[in-house]
Amino acid sequence: MSRRSHPKSKARRLAKARVDILWEQAKKDATQGRPDLARERVLSARKIAQKTRTKLPGYINRRICRTCGSVLFASRVRVRNNRSRHIVVTCQNCGATKRYYF
Ligand SMILES: [Zn+2]
Repeated sequence: MSRRSHPKSKARRLAKARVDILWEQAKKDATQGRPDLARERVLSARKIAQKTRTKLPGYINRRICRTCGSVLFASRVRVRNNRSRHIVVTCQNCGATKRYYF
């Protein structure tokens, strides 16, 4: 292995590992009645992703509120069928809604 190769991909791999750890902790916090802590962890995970110019993985992105960064764990989920089938997830912290079409 060349020492000079892929300094960025190494940083990204580290970033992803940290993001994963933060996400695991955030989920725990959210289920243990600490949504404030969970939000802090989500926000720092986001910062890490921004710094390394990577995206948060889809399984994380789908579970956090775009507006305030809350973990959408115990949020209201409604499946609607009136026009197109989609799920409406309501953030219990700021009330923002998110729609997923499928
Ligand atoms: Zn929110």
